[in-house]
Amino acid sequence: MQDIEAKDKQYVWHPFTQMQEWEAKPQKTIAAANGIKLIDTEGNEFYDGVSSLWVNIHGHRKAAIDEAIIEQLGKVAHTTMLGLANIPATELAEQLVEITPAGLNKVFYSDDGSTAVEVALKMAFQYWQHKGKPGKQKFISLEQAYHGDTVGTVSVGGIDLFHRIFKPLLFTPVQIPAPSCYHCRLASDPASCGMLCVNKLEQVLAAHHEEIAGLVIEPLVQAAAGMLMSPPGYLAKVRELTRKYDVLMLVDEVATGFGRTGEMFACEHENVTPDMMMLSKGITGGYLALAATLTTDEIYQAFLGGYAEKKTLYHGHSYTGNPLACAAALANLKIFREEQVIAGLAPKIAVVAQKLAEIRELTHVGEVRQRGLIIGIELMLDRIKKIPYPWEQAAGAGVCLQARKLGLIIRPIGDVVVFMPPLASTVGELGEMMDIIARAIKEITEGGHVDNDLQPTDL
Ligand SMILES: *Cc1c(COP(=O)(O)O)cnc(C)c1O
Repeated sequence: MQDIEAKDKQYVWHPFTQMQEWEAKPQKTIAAANGIKLIDTEGNEFYDGVSSLWVNIHGHRKAAIDEAIIEQLGKVAHTTMLGLANIPATELAEQLVEITPAGLNKVFYSDDGSTAVEVALKMAFQYWQHKGKPGKQKFISLEQAYHGDTVGTVSVGGIDLFHRIFKPLLFTPVQIPAPSCYHCRLASDPASCGMLCVNKLEQVLAAHHEEIAGLVIEPLVQAAAGMLMSPPGYLAKVRELTRKYDVLMLVDEVATGFGRTGEMFACEHENVTPDMMMLSKGITGGYLALAATLTTDEIYQAFLGGYAEKKTLYHGHSYTGNPLACAAALANLKIFREEQVIAGLAPKIAVVAQKLAEIRELTHVGEVRQRGLIIGIELMLDRIKKIPYPWEQAAGAGVCLQARKLGLIIRPIGDVVVFMPPLASTVGELGEMMDIIARAIKEITEGGHVDNDLQPTDL
């Protein structure tokens, strides 16, 4: 299998990857999987501790999803949704409407988290054109936000490292501070800092609401920012204010949806019904690319009219509503119902919290953040004085590489060690994975193992 690695290095350009480093170092190729474990070409097994980048839900090779895809393959793999309907996409739309907050009644399909957000931005923009308020053209976004990598979604992104270089290419949103910002986290009373952010939002809305089409937000957790959590009540407050000032609320549940936070959707924690909800990552259980932008009857109806009125939403992708992906998504939802996945999460979340309490005591661990099965562990050179590791030291990457040696695949965001296991992980497996993380952190930060050969990994 030496040659598969060589071929990869010869032909493939990997996402979010410095290819010079990739080529210089030995790399793993995954050949198969079993449950929540990945198996490489040499037969080594690793826990999939980031759910294959936040997508996998019920483990790999889940029989019910495998069979649903095979059954659909016996009918048709793909047909277009431009001018035609297909059975799995129709049935899935009905079920998505049923499980999402009341009032979200229409489903627009696309293929990735980025496209789901892109669709929402264009839909919100065009909505106000039809409603006779053409001045509402701007968006409010949050500092440190991440909504995808297409040009539209990068415009509403706030992660300097990824987004700054593209500035000249982007439209400019009105950026507001996130309630999980660094200063708030260092403050003695983070909840009151959340209120400062709410006040700032209200100022912006009061002054500019006539120019603002919508506000886009990751609910409860800013994931790519390093699993930053917003204080309780913040999301509900944003809903209240966007209603008051007639600004659409676009909630990006791409990372938080499908049980990750402990509820099916993060919005449920604060009884929020947004004007649009964007779903992807977990929607197919982590099997195939699929996304959905859900919206209200009110918004849908604003696009109705005679063909000549040109109120159509002129947007769509080749693989939109792909029947195989929709069949996988239907199987995913059926497993949620039949195995009562959400009800079974409480003891899993509890065991993680218990292990995190131990990790929090380690010498070089700063803030530890958890919401459901979304976990971020911040490494700190000096946790008392809150001095971070020097960037070049790549402490986060070092810990993750050490964890890999111990049988767990995880991936850092800077010096935040991210843990996002499949929901199917058992209490025992979660304990084992957490023990590996604790050991890797200790060995790297206390054992002087930090490897000079490492480079910071971005995401
Ligand atoms: C991953 C992610 C996206 C982008 O999804 P892709 O499928 O990678 O395009 C958008 N929003 C959030 C919150 C995400 O975590």
